[in-house]
Amino acid sequence: MQGRLLILDAVSTNRIVLTALLEPACYTVDQGQTLADALVALRIDRPDLVLTAWSLPDGSAMDLRAALDAEDPDRLVPVVAIARPGELTDRRAALRAGLTDLLVHPLDETMLQARLRAILRARPAGPALDLGPDPDNHGRPPDPPRTWPETAPDTSARAAGAPHAAPGFAEPRPGFARPGRVAILADEPETAHAWCQGLSAQLNQPVSGFGMMQRGQVLNAVHPPDVVVLALTADRPGPALRCLADLRAGPSTRHMAVIALPRGRDGVASAAVQALDMGADDVMPGPFEPGELALRVQAQLRRKHLSDRLRNTVRDGLRAALIDPMTGLYNRRYALPHLAHVIRQSARTGRSFAVMMADLDHFKRINDQHGHLAGDAVLTEAAGRLRAALDPQHVLARIGGEEFLVVLRDTDAPTARAVADALRRAVDARPFPVGDAPDGQLRKEAVTVSIGVAICPPAGDPDVYGFPDDPDEPRLAALLQQADRALYTSKNAGRNTVTIARSAA
Ligand code: GH3
Ligand code: MG
Ligand code: MG
Repeated sequence: MQGRLLILDAVSTNRIVLTALLEPACYTVDQGQTLADALVALRIDRPDLVLTAWSLPDGSAMDLRAALDAEDPDRLVPVVAIARPGELTDRRAALRAGLTDLLVHPLDETMLQARLRAILRARPAGPALDLGPDPDNHGRPPDPPRTWPETAPDTSARAAGAPHAAPGFAEPRPGFARPGRVAILADEPETAHAWCQGLSAQLNQPVSGFGMMQRGQVLNAVHPPDVVVLALTADRPGPALRCLADLRAGPSTRHMAVIALPRGRDGVASAAVQALDMGADDVMPGPFEPGELALRVQAQLRRKHLSDRLRNTVRDGLRAALIDPMTGLYNRRYALPHLAHVIRQSARTGRSFAVMMADLDHFKRINDQHGHLAGDAVLTEAAGRLRAALDPQHVLARIGGEEFLVVLRDTDAPTARAVADALRRAVDARPFPVGDAPDGQLRKEAVTVSIGVAICPPAGDPDVYGFPDDPDEPRLAALLQQADRALYTSKNAGRNTVTIARSAA
């Protein structure tokens, strides 16, 4: 769905005209006439954005913003106000109150559409992040995800609508903005520097200025700015728009907020629309006005801070799903798809690879004699020794209690044997601490590991290169089974031993 919009206006023709404009753009449009209607719609329709007349029968757009925040402090639906000419006397007060944008009749339809797209695009993407009503949950909001990691309470972020209970936040609430790096990019460095002074005074923090020729300093910065103000010369917007495209493409710059400032006599609206559709988060048409720009920069800083936090939380969650918390090694959920990938890669390159199963010997004894905590410490230390003995390009995973999987890509049988021997020796090298004895002495236990190795494909077997590029690689199970059998042979041979399987699957 493109998004759900609520149009608020007491004049029915205004509502009809706006609806006729927006429905063809595939928005779902609801209508209301008063502030009270908006509060009902907030609960029932859950709009993604409210487009309101500046004056409603029971309050102004600023009153609406305050009422929506009071009703549901976590949702922070963006509100765009549309005023009649002369009605909007204090733009800064309106922005300070938390309105996302202010438009004045007569509306430029293309500009309105571009503006709405940019605001809605700023919503976090993906069903996992949207805690709105779930159609399969009979309209009830779903429970917060159980895996959502605990984050330290952050009162400033909460005040700005932190994604604690509702990661599907929309707009940051006005108020305290965290400091962030701010830069101005203009065609000429002199313009950028002059604007920097005005903006810096309003924000009470330094602002860097760059001419378009120096844009590399922003694009390649080690610590790129959080917000870039990008001047667009309306009759010649090409260079600035290309720079915007570069900012959106760069891995370290694509998440920065960009406020476009189209300037000139003709073509300002079309430059603004192009900038919004190419990824600008906000535009400030009209002459450079440092007070209003500062408010827009602060709103973008708050938004970026929240979306950075959300992205980090998702990244940490993803990491947690693939890493064994005790040893810090990859887990089975990472290791098996990785092995499938290595199998497919080997089919393409024709190079062999090795899979190893390693299992600590008589580990039960450690637990029985020294307790589970000592067992955990030995496991963690063994994992560390194995990791240290292995080249970083190879993958080591804990796939069971005291069982490890090693995947060595581009490896032949002699190398695999050498690596397996090195792993075995790393564990056997010195005894492991298992806690204090009653006399206060540190107790230590010898621990060893047994290893089974499968090489795929075995040297001199060209036929096996031909297997298909199948994600449910049937060879995966066969290879694991073969390494496991070799491991069993090592155990039977007295443990602390490496066995290479005679032929691969
Ligand atoms: P073998 O040489 O034949 O492998 O003998 P073993 O004692 O190592 O083998 P077995 O599979 O019988 O026992 C493995 C033990 O590892 C059983 C279980 O209690 C212990 N174990 C599995 N996961 C953990 C863990 O996370 N922490 C601790 N402390 N022990 C674990
Ligand atoms: Mg064991
Ligand atoms: Mg075992």
